[in-house]
Amino acid sequence: MKMKCLNCHKNMKKTKFDIGYGIEVDSLHCEECGFNVTDDKVLNGALVSLKEQMAKEVKIIEIGNGIGIRFPNEIVKGMKLKRGREMIVRPEIDGLKLIPT
Ligand SMILES: [Zn+2]
Repeated sequence: MKMKCLNCHKNMKKTKFDIGYGIEVDSLHCEECGFNVTDDKVLNGALVSLKEQMAKEVKIIEIGNGIGIRFPNEIVKGMKLKRGREMIVRPEIDGLKLIPT
């Protein structure tokens, strides 16, 4: 089944889309304008395995008079974290969520 690009209405090609960390998902790609479509179920499945793969245990360490955690290298690279970058720390039912701003 051919699917038309939602952007420019040309035929789209089946391709593998790299969501990072070596995980590829099946998606449709438009060579004309570069538009990509990935099935939500496929993408969500890949994200769940990515989350499990990326989950790491970290230790709380002393930083000056306070405490903090050191991020594993994979997380630093994957999330493009940098010193001085701000994050929102939000309590959730099952832990803390860190959202780079
Ligand atoms: Zn297109």
